[in-house]
Amino acid sequence: MKWGLAGRLGLTLGLGLMLALGGNALLVWHQQEEAREQQLLERGRAVGELVASISAGALRAYDLPNLDAYLQRAAGQQGVVYAAIYDAQGRPLAQAFGAAYAQSEAQGSVAVGAAPATLLSQLRERVGVVPMSFPVGDGTSQVGTFNLGLERPTGTAADQRLFWTQLAIFMFSGLVIGGLCYRLYRQRFVQPVASLIEALRLTARGEYRQLPRQADNELAGLQEAFNGMVQGLEEDREKLHHQANYDALTGLPNRMLAIERLGYEISRSQREEQRLALLFVDLNDFKLINESLGHAAGDQMLEEVGARLRSCLRDVDTIARLGGDEFLLLLPGSGDRAEIEAVGQRLIQAVNVPLPLPSQELIVHCSIGVARYPEDGDSVDTLMANADNAMHQAKLEPQSTLCFFQPAMTARVQQRVQMEQDLHRALERGELELHYQPLVDAGNGRPRGAEVLLRWQHPERGMVSPAEFIPLAETTGQIIAIGEWVLEQAGRQWAQWSAEGLTPGYLAVNISRVQFQRNLAWTLGRVLAHYRLPPSALELEITEGVLLEDHELVRRELNELRAMGIRLALDDFGTGFSSLNYLKRFHFDVLKIDRTFVAGLPRDAEDVSLVKAVIAMAHGMELEVIAEGVEDQAQFEFLQQQGCDLCQGYYFSRPLNAAAYRDYLRQAHSRDSASLMMPGAVVGAERRRHPRP
Ligand code: C2E
Ligand code: MG
Ligand code: MG
Repeated sequence: MKWGLAGRLGLTLGLGLMLALGGNALLVWHQQEEAREQQLLERGRAVGELVASISAGALRAYDLPNLDAYLQRAAGQQGVVYAAIYDAQGRPLAQAFGAAYAQSEAQGSVAVGAAPATLLSQLRERVGVVPMSFPVGDGTSQVGTFNLGLERPTGTAADQRLFWTQLAIFMFSGLVIGGLCYRLYRQRFVQPVASLIEALRLTARGEYRQLPRQADNELAGLQEAFNGMVQGLEEDREKLHHQANYDALTGLPNRMLAIERLGYEISRSQREEQRLALLFVDLNDFKLINESLGHAAGDQMLEEVGARLRSCLRDVDTIARLGGDEFLLLLPGSGDRAEIEAVGQRLIQAVNVPLPLPSQELIVHCSIGVARYPEDGDSVDTLMANADNAMHQAKLEPQSTLCFFQPAMTARVQQRVQMEQDLHRALERGELELHYQPLVDAGNGRPRGAEVLLRWQHPERGMVSPAEFIPLAETTGQIIAIGEWVLEQAGRQWAQWSAEGLTPGYLAVNISRVQFQRNLAWTLGRVLAHYRLPPSALELEITEGVLLEDHELVRRELNELRAMGIRLALDDFGTGFSSLNYLKRFHFDVLKIDRTFVAGLPRDAEDVSLVKAVIAMAHGMELEVIAEGVEDQAQFEFLQQQGCDLCQGYYFSRPLNAAAYRDYLRQAHSRDSASLMMPGAVVGAERRRHPRP
């Protein structure tokens, strides 16, 4: 049995009290015994001295009858066990036994029928008998001894009863007081402390519970302090819970909570045999808007879009912000295609309403991907992945679009994963190679250089387009190693052709936005130094995407490149944000008009006016213009008329591998070996502004 604090205290107090009171009763009993013995001795002494004095004469005279009579009288006194007279030689002359002896005999404590002498010695040694001895004689000579045995007094039965009753009362009092202390201590101290300990234990487990006010003593302060602490912890937890589960900007549940709710809704739909729709909503070109209008406007837009999406949903639906410009919508009970399409249309309409930003009104588009339980998956991961796939499919459309998941999309994702793995090995296995597409002078039709285009000879799939694998390499970061390899190869190739006596002009290398963040100037400097190339041997083609990154960093990097003498071309102009602001802010040397605008020339009036305007504007800003995707003579002639500086396209040549491009150069060389591609030999005022090697 385990004794608690209260049990131990009660027991200690009870036992202590019993011992103290019991001890006291024993002491009193003992004192009474002593007083009784004292009285007995005094009485015995009186009897003894009297008998000793009166029996001296009878002893001298050997008057035995008289001596007997004295002894009988003495033995008749209360408490006398025996009385005996001995002569000077110690021989017993007479003896008598009192009433106390009869009692002892009756109790069997002395041997019945023993010889008087033996009996006397027995009685003397008996514990309960107090022997006394008195000399008989006058002051000068002793004639004998008077021996007296007294029964040691024991308390009366009444005394003993009293003693035991007292003892019982004391024990009982000890028990009662101990018990009371136990109860009081338990109630007032142990229980509040125990509930405090239990509450602390729960608190440690994260279950916060306030304590009822149990104590009205010093413990009350402790309870109050504890309750205050629990309240503080609860508030902190609430705050933390909110921070961990809700998005700070929109106040909507975040990814973590969204996943939790999705899991819950899947289980519920399973139980109730219901359907469930999961929608991924992503804003189109949010990054562009965020970068061009500033993060404050971007935040305002996200807040507004979040509120608009919420307003289109029922109370039972969930909306969460997964991060960036991606929202997740959960529609329990919805699975019907037409019903979801109707919701999707409402969402698209709500998002498309122009946003009144401080600087301007802005129309935002969004892409919605839908995955349904149970047909598109029955787990959080599958439904999320499939809704994401569907959303990426929707993203391929320029306008706001809703797209339902289809199993073929998974195949595309798997293909992507496979390609990612293959791309890892492509460099090591030498599956990558560079092709070169001539950049032709629009004035005289002679090549002035080439654009370097990467090719991947996949062992099973054959030629994979860079448009397919470069974005993948960018997301996985493989583009860093690949980009360095391209620069290295281009540099090596230029040096080799030059050494062979060819005039390769310049090589325009495409640079990804990811490469830009990795100290591009340093890599380029290394390549130039290693192959002893003039900076004019290489040109870098950058798309507007690069300029969306950290402006300061990009500007610094561009300035560094320019300081090295490297020329910069803005690629695919017209397809991105086509911001004049960029052209002004970052100094480019060349502007490449995207082939989508060249395709309609010279019939499409819109393309015609656009290309004319771009050429005029670029020349106004002292930029050289290259038209991409020139496929026929009509396009070329139109571009010539407009003063376009350079042309690139199938009309002149498709991208060629190194050997084919070498032949192309040789042919061009032999056609006009003296003037082709020499510095200053280019035709046209603008072109003279940008001398080439
Ligand atoms: P880009 O820089 O705009 O390259 C021009 C693309 O247009 C090339 O496609 C080229 O083959 C194609 N092209 C040229 N003339 C014509 C024409 O007359 N008609 C048509 N329809 N197309 C023409 P390609 O080689 O498939 O490259 C696609 C894109 O991949 C490039 O676009 C460039 O952005 C990227 N890329 C290619 N190589 C590299 C590289 O080494 N590094 C990086 N970062 N990106 C690269
Ligand atoms: Mg390019
Ligand atoms: Mg281009």
